[in-house]
Amino acid sequence: MSKTIFEYSVSGRKGVTLPPRDSDSKLEGIIPGKFLRQDKAKLPEVTELDVMRHYIALSHKNHFIEKGLYPLGSCTMKYNPKVHEVLVRHSCFNNIHAYQDEQTLQGSLAILYELQQDLAEISGMAQVTLQPVAGAQGEFAGIKIIEAYHHAKGNTHKTKIILPDSAHGTNPATCSLVGYDVVELKSDAEGRVDLAKLKELIDDNVAGFMLTNPNTLGLFESQIVEIAELIHSVDGLMYMDGANLNALLGIVQPGKIGFDVMHYNLHKTFTTPHGGGGPGSGPVGVVEKLIPYLPVPMIAKNDDGYFFDYRHEATSIGKVHTYYGNFAIMLRAYIYIKMLGPDGLRRVSENAIINANYLMKLVAPYYHIEHQESCMHEFVADGTKQKKENGVSTLDIAKRLLDKGYHAPTIYFPLIIHEALMIEPTETESKESIDAFANAMIEIAMECKDNPEMMHDAPLTTPVRRVDDVRAVKILDLRYQIEN
Ligand SMILES: *Cc1c(COP(=O)(O)O)cnc(C)c1O
Repeated sequence: MSKTIFEYSVSGRKGVTLPPRDSDSKLEGIIPGKFLRQDKAKLPEVTELDVMRHYIALSHKNHFIEKGLYPLGSCTMKYNPKVHEVLVRHSCFNNIHAYQDEQTLQGSLAILYELQQDLAEISGMAQVTLQPVAGAQGEFAGIKIIEAYHHAKGNTHKTKIILPDSAHGTNPATCSLVGYDVVELKSDAEGRVDLAKLKELIDDNVAGFMLTNPNTLGLFESQIVEIAELIHSVDGLMYMDGANLNALLGIVQPGKIGFDVMHYNLHKTFTTPHGGGGPGSGPVGVVEKLIPYLPVPMIAKNDDGYFFDYRHEATSIGKVHTYYGNFAIMLRAYIYIKMLGPDGLRRVSENAIINANYLMKLVAPYYHIEHQESCMHEFVADGTKQKKENGVSTLDIAKRLLDKGYHAPTIYFPLIIHEALMIEPTETESKESIDAFANAMIEIAMECKDNPEMMHDAPLTTPVRRVDDVRAVKILDLRYQIEN
């Protein structure tokens, strides 16, 4: 383990040059004496170079996409082009303020407007709001829109939302938060929506159906038209969780095949940095009949230019975020979409799908894969074979990957696959880096056989070994304790 910044400290060493300070007595008139520090602060005495080495060493203890492949399924941890970072720091973007007159914000509003239009075109939806700042918040806005639609029609008896057992945890949480009863639909043997079972659940109380496509098993839900017909037959609405849109760009428009409302995760599909909790962006797209319920303001355009549009205020679900969401994140997504163009976006999804299928074939001889047919942009392998034969768990396998220089895949999700390892290489990885990752997975499969004891101890090489997740949540204390 490398040194902490305090251990670099040598008395009298300095990394800053400050002007001579006024005497402390000046402060005494302003701050009562009892609050003034009596002893010198115990700060490390270090040079600028010491500080640089300290932070660079710290950054290397973490995993990031520039360090190695990051196959965290469903999260789409693709490379974030650095040109975005240069452009968002330009003064014409980062010197603006949300309270400026809209006439002085025309350039930025134009970008938001075009991003709304581009996202609408990509998804086949009629209109898009950029306000929500996470996928989960997009879900909340989307389900509130479904509620507003039913309430406007006086259909308050619609109390249920159906969702498959493969759904991401945020889906049932969102429905409950809005006040709906969640009805779980068991997936069929192929891992998809079971139409016969769905028919049994349909009645007039169904407000909507929430589906991820491709679903969390990495499989395309091929019966959308039939599902939508069923749901629409009772005036229910179809919600698409768009977290996996990275598989559909330029190939499928959800708004054209029966979905009525969906969210996008700009931080997943459209390369804005994520991890560590944000900031994110979860725009929501809707079909024509749901436009009146979208959050206000929208960004609109008339002969005088771009403006904040409150036209639907009376029917809107209201504002879901201060100002207009995370502008710098939306700007990155805008640059990404404009640089790639329609053909480039389609290639993104095609390559994401090819990479996932290639990787799946490489690891398939060594790990159990429940759904072996071709996948979309990700696939779910599992550790059931290793568990049964070698007593090694998926957690052990994930931890051992850290020793090999990789971030772990998403594990134990989706819940319907025991010992799940959900792997998403993304399109930004080359064949060579996918080969290398597959080799690491294969080596681990061998180690499970040859040295299962070691697998329980992994990771062996990281600065921190296995953390106690429960303790870390309950007793979070990240301070460095100075030993006197
Ligand atoms: C990531 C994800 C979400 C939630 O999105 P956040 O932006 O993390 O709030 C919802 N559903 C699925 C399938 C996801 O992968």
